[in-house]
Amino acid sequence: MSIQNNGLKSMVIPKKTDIVIIGAGPAGSSAATHLAHAGYEVVILEKTIFPRNQVGESLIPHFWKFTDTLGVSNKIEAEGFIHKAGGITVWDGKIQQILFSDFGYQRSGLHVERDIFDNLLLKHAQATGAYFFQQIAVRKVDFSDPSSPIVYFTDRHSDTNQLCFIKCSYVIDATGHNSLLAQQFGTRQTISHKMNFLSMWGYFKNSRYPGIDTQSHSLKSINKISPVSFVISYEDGWLWHIILRNKTSVGLVVHTDKTKGMNKQQREAFFKQTCYERPYLKDLLAPASFINNSLQYRPDYSYYSTQICGDNYYCIGDAAAFIDPIFSHGVQNAFYNAALASLAIKESLKKPSKRKRYSQLCATRMQQFYGFSRALSLGDFGCHGVNREWVKSLMKAMPALELELMLVAAEMTNRSENFKQLAKEAGIWKNFIAQSQGEQLVKISHLNF
Ligand SMILES: Cc1cc2nc3c(=O)[nH]c(=O)nc-3n(C[C@H](O)[C@H](O)[C@H](O)COP(=O)(O)OP(=O)(O)OC[C@H]3O[C@@H](n4cnc5c(N)ncnc54)[C@H](O)[C@@H]3O)c2cc1C
Repeated sequence: MSIQNNGLKSMVIPKKTDIVIIGAGPAGSSAATHLAHAGYEVVILEKTIFPRNQVGESLIPHFWKFTDTLGVSNKIEAEGFIHKAGGITVWDGKIQQILFSDFGYQRSGLHVERDIFDNLLLKHAQATGAYFFQQIAVRKVDFSDPSSPIVYFTDRHSDTNQLCFIKCSYVIDATGHNSLLAQQFGTRQTISHKMNFLSMWGYFKNSRYPGIDTQSHSLKSINKISPVSFVISYEDGWLWHIILRNKTSVGLVVHTDKTKGMNKQQREAFFKQTCYERPYLKDLLAPASFINNSLQYRPDYSYYSTQICGDNYYCIGDAAAFIDPIFSHGVQNAFYNAALASLAIKESLKKPSKRKRYSQLCATRMQQFYGFSRALSLGDFGCHGVNREWVKSLMKAMPALELELMLVAAEMTNRSENFKQLAKEAGIWKNFIAQSQGEQLVKISHLNF
């Protein structure tokens, strides 16, 4: 089977390799870079054609430390994505702003077109030595021989639907919300009915954007007045506004029940009406037009898998868990998981007798990180699936700058009561209030949009 390998390498999928990575999003591509850099043979199998669309365009500055380690930050800088200075939330009518520079961040966040961003990460993985095959849909992984999992896939280039395979020492499931292995193992759980959201998002042309000065501006001013991401709550959920270079991403997160039984047209009408009824958002969108057929839809989150690492597999990024994206954690969680899983795999390949220990350590760290994000973002969900002690110890070990940003973010919505409780139990909240009193959180009486 001969496959065009995205310009860099043209070859046939081998029958055996060191590591198979399923999915070429930020989790898969960054794990591929780490492992290829260490000299292992890595094969990425991706079911779509890259570049492919993806939602999740707002990146907080924490992500730079991961892209620095990957050696890809300069390529991201060179692409010229929009630099975002912080965020404004209007939550229960309360308007607040944070700016990353007030915390001492030297680098800004970004608003990225994910097709371009993810493709850039993938190209970097290929340039580091990873082999990439697209239009390859993985169907299942056979773990019956623990020393050599077999990954079964179909090749979308061929019409035969014939099942092909590749053997490897390790499998990384980076299939995003498809969660291939969690589905195969039956270990995927949604958090609770109360937190069972869906999201709809679409794109607008010529929207105004919210600036660092709390005024709105046309795209022409983007290099003079830095933008911020904008979030507004309403009685049934919340919405985002993220300005990009040629369009604006606007999304709605709402309880699944609210759109039950709607067809595609009804959903689009509901989405537009909800956007146009919100104060401030309607002003930003006043000169804008909706891009036809741009509405997309993702049901059934937040979720997590109870089994994310084993002797010969690792589930990373959204394949392991997904949390309401209110604090823009998804991509950096993907980078974090990828770095951890790659380290565990590298060490296990060096010392096979310790592979179980490394996978357990990795699983604990990943669950700890997801628990942290879940506590921060999910409001009253009773800390379902969160190990309270792990989250508290992560809070104590985190870089001060990152923790402070999260503690301040916890004051921006009504979603973080569990998080604040854990910070109190860890003895962190008292110090935070005593030292900074959350002074980076600026209260605003009115936005001039
Ligand atoms: C509504 C919404 C808004 C969001 N907003 C933000 C945000 O502002 N900031 C942020 O950081 N994050 C955000 N996120 C989360 C972010 O998009 C994800 O966390 C991130 O894309 C995870 O990366 P990943 O590599 O794990 O998965 P993905 O990016 O989903 O990549 C998975 C890849 O696997 C491929 N794949 C799937 N199944 C198979 C298969 N069987 N065989 C082969 N390939 C397969 C897919 O085609 C895909 O390319 C948002 C998410 C949603 C749903």
